[in-house]
Amino acid sequence: MEDLKLTIRDIPDFPKKGIIFKDITTLLQDAKSFARMIDTIANRYIGQRIEKVVGVEARGFLIGAALAYRLGAGVVLVRKPGKLPSETFSKTYDLEYGTDTLEMHKDAIKPGEKILIADDLLATGGTMAAVVDMVQQLGGDIAECCFMAELLFLDGRKKLPEGKVYSLLQF
Ligand code: 5GP
Repeated sequence: MEDLKLTIRDIPDFPKKGIIFKDITTLLQDAKSFARMIDTIANRYIGQRIEKVVGVEARGFLIGAALAYRLGAGVVLVRKPGKLPSETFSKTYDLEYGTDTLEMHKDAIKPGEKILIADDLLATGGTMAAVVDMVQQLGGDIAECCFMAELLFLDGRKKLPEGKVYSLLQF
């Protein structure tokens, strides 16, 4: 996986000074790397009867949709406020400075459905913890939370259900 890691580049001072942003667009735009990333993650879940893959706006949509297609599952969107057209519920969670809110359609998941949640990157874990809570509120049975990449030094996985976190690449 070391060569796949090299396709992700560091952008210093984005989105603000002092942050080194992992830019995954360079992995996505390379056909072989994109296919290898999706295939490797999907292979982990083949045979697990995943019914829906939940993708987190916006980069999680790209990974979530491709995984869902490979797994024969549906796609569920978790979006920023005001974007989903039907009846929604929301979850507000803490950031380093301030808060953020995510929304889901109330009828996106039926109780007991087997759910995989996908996002591009696990940092502090706040975003995924909010999504886990929302999926659980709808009664979804979470198989795992999967990520393309994980920033190990932030220890975000401690905010998530134990034993249910998978990342393809670790930094
Ligand atoms: P967390 O809530 O775990 O602190 O942040 C994770 C969320 O922020 C994910 O939805 C992810 O897309 C975004 N994010 C935070 N830092 C980075 C980064 O360095 N690179 C990328 N690609 N996304 C990031």
